[in-house]
Amino acid sequence: MIRLTKKVFFDLAIWMIGLGLAMGVVFPFFMVLMGVPAQMVLTPWFFAACMGAGFVVGTANIGLARGVVGKRLRLLAERMRVVEGNLNHMAAGDGMEDCSPEDCYIAVDSSDEIGESAQAFNNLVGALAEAHQSEGAVSEFSRLLASQMELEALTEQALRQLMGHTRASAGALLVETEGELKMAASHGLRGPADLGQSDHVRAAMRTGQLQRVLLPPELTVEGVLADFKPREVLVEPVMYKSVPIGVIVLATGEAFDEKGLHRLELLRPGLALALNNGLAHERLQRLAALDPLTGIYNRRFGLARLQEEFGRAVRDSSPLGVVMFDLDHFKSVNDTYGHLVGDRVLVHMAKLARSVMREGDVLVRYGGEEFLAILPAASREDCRAVGERLRRLVQESAVRDGEQEIRITVSAGVAATPELTVDSPNDLVSQADQALYEAKDMGRNQVRIA
Ligand code: GH3
Ligand code: MG
Ligand code: MG
Repeated sequence: MIRLTKKVFFDLAIWMIGLGLAMGVVFPFFMVLMGVPAQMVLTPWFFAACMGAGFVVGTANIGLARGVVGKRLRLLAERMRVVEGNLNHMAAGDGMEDCSPEDCYIAVDSSDEIGESAQAFNNLVGALAEAHQSEGAVSEFSRLLASQMELEALTEQALRQLMGHTRASAGALLVETEGELKMAASHGLRGPADLGQSDHVRAAMRTGQLQRVLLPPELTVEGVLADFKPREVLVEPVMYKSVPIGVIVLATGEAFDEKGLHRLELLRPGLALALNNGLAHERLQRLAALDPLTGIYNRRFGLARLQEEFGRAVRDSSPLGVVMFDLDHFKSVNDTYGHLVGDRVLVHMAKLARSVMREGDVLVRYGGEEFLAILPAASREDCRAVGERLRRLVQESAVRDGEQEIRITVSAGVAATPELTVDSPNDLVSQADQALYEAKDMGRNQVRIA
């Protein structure tokens, strides 16, 4: 219909009243055709009466249209304004999660264009709420991960969030460190410990593409009543600057829905950034803590660990022992075979020492060719036995340099509490040092106890 003015109801009024007047003009001729004598109806008075009637009907129609349709449209606009206000309020505040139907949606109570408009508006609000929720989830996820540098806590939290957003019943996060894909966090998955070797995980790392696996045979999810095979597993690579640095594995008893998959895509870049930061942090920490030649703790970090272990021993009233050992006549090894061979002997020494120690014991490169073994929960006798085993092992082993066999010996000093009363970790170390000095003094290749 041709638009006449900028107001729909004004246009409608012009059309309706115009049509009424036109009917008033046409009606007398229609009467003539119907057999009414022309001199009765083709008179100015009858024309005026018919046009008057047409005007009245047109005016009444426009009034009705305004009353029925206009009122509904006004109601719709009014509702939209209320919803707009609520949405603005929620978007500026806590978010739209608690956007109740009364606050944010319009009742759809007619099956016509007005009902369709209300429905379209509701769909728009729904899409807006979803977009707003996603934005909130992404910023919350990034904020949470940015506050966490330690790789272990970071991967643990990230996995929990990812599982929540995708409604996964189990999952794992694998991270590549030193060229190997290692399990950094896992929840509810029973499966091969070497998930990193799985074909699907390897394919995700190789292609950088999401792998959706239906009914994977090698995984089981821990259930409340029974363990069950997941129906679908997502294997999603985590890419940082186009390089895969880890893999997300998520499993569900149902199939994953589009919303969950979309969320996963949104959260992935933030995870990649946080994971990369975590890995860099870990690498730096390792560099700062380890001796580059032997790969064991350096003196600074070793002493910090000793401080921790000493504190724990005091708190728990548990034993703590240290063994200080030093290669005998090491200077002559350097002088005879050169510094590089001397270095190899030191690496060999660290390896032997590690082999006689337990999990949880700490090995420190204390000085050039001087090492400190920290043995939590070990008695004086345990420490002596460790020192003695090491002494014998060193005496019996040899480092090859071409045709040459380099044989060395080691001297050790042991100090342990509660056998000794010490009031600081330094005290314990200096007692062990003193015992080592005595061992050297008494002819080397022996273990002395403080
Ligand atoms: P002792 O039996 O009394 O311990 O005699 P020693 O020769 O082992 O002791 P000394 O303290 O005289 O010499 C220690 C040597 O260790 C001197 C130094 O060149 C060597 N050294 C220290 N750090 C390193 C290292 O990182 N690499 C190599 N190759 N040698 C080192
Ligand atoms: Mg020495
Ligand atoms: Mg020395």
